[in-house]
Amino acid sequence: MNRNNFGVEYHLVDSCNLNCAGCSHYSSLIDDKKIVQLEFIIKDLTLLKNKVGDKLRWLRLLGGEPLLHPDIKECLKRIRELFPNTQISMVTNGILLKSMDQEFYDICLDCKIEIAITDYKIIKNLRSIMIGMRKSGIKTNYYGNSRIWHYQHIRLTEERIDCLTKCIYKNTCNNYRGGKIYLCPHIAYIEYFNKYFNKDIKLDESDYIDLNDVKNFDELIEKLNDTKPNFCYQYCNYYDREHPIHGKWDKTNKNINEFCKI
Ligand code: SF4
Ligand code: SF4
Repeated sequence: MNRNNFGVEYHLVDSCNLNCAGCSHYSSLIDDKKIVQLEFIIKDLTLLKNKVGDKLRWLRLLGGEPLLHPDIKECLKRIRELFPNTQISMVTNGILLKSMDQEFYDICLDCKIEIAITDYKIIKNLRSIMIGMRKSGIKTNYYGNSRIWHYQHIRLTEERIDCLTKCIYKNTCNNYRGGKIYLCPHIAYIEYFNKYFNKDIKLDESDYIDLNDVKNFDELIEKLNDTKPNFCYQYCNYYDREHPIHGKWDKTNKNINEFCKI
């Protein structure tokens, strides 16, 4: 873990308004709205702030779809207050951008919140929407299209495989949730996979770093460097170039084969 580039992803909303097959955050398996309450978000991020101070280089706010949050404007303002020097971006599928009011865009501008759009090729005029935001001074980012899509992140086979050593997600997709840091969303949100498919993948203490047990930033970096989550050996399906399965983006049929190799 490069201590000069420490950052986390954080869900403002677990559910989504776009049902992608094999969603790596399992958001397309959530049938009801799962909003993370504003006070929970602030409490969670305050704990993070207390442990890492101003060493949080980047923070990606996402989900699910963050624009579904009813208090999105207040969320952005208060998160910026907590982390005045962090590079903050909000990752959206863009569907709701047209319906956001001017105050939302003013807050993004004032609070220096980058709007990063993942292009699923479903939004007409995305280019002009992005140009409009840029002209207003809002920083934007284009997360590319989704022609190459990963399916079957999870493996429900008996064998243990070291997927961690070569993992490209390690340290780039730390997901922070409820006071705990997980190395990737597959681990952090596995409860939604379990719930939908009636599975029982259990996490243990190796699968996360509990910030309540961490004294300071240095210790956190040490723990991130040393961590060996059981999940990465027992359940991950990212062990070589052929796995997970690559394919074209599609809407979900909520079939377990999209998410996992049985
Ligand atoms: S837009 Fe993103 S979060 Fe939503 S279902 Fe698709 S991949 Fe998942
Ligand atoms: S579960 Fe797999 S993708 Fe996630 S951090 Fe572990 S090895 Fe990487």
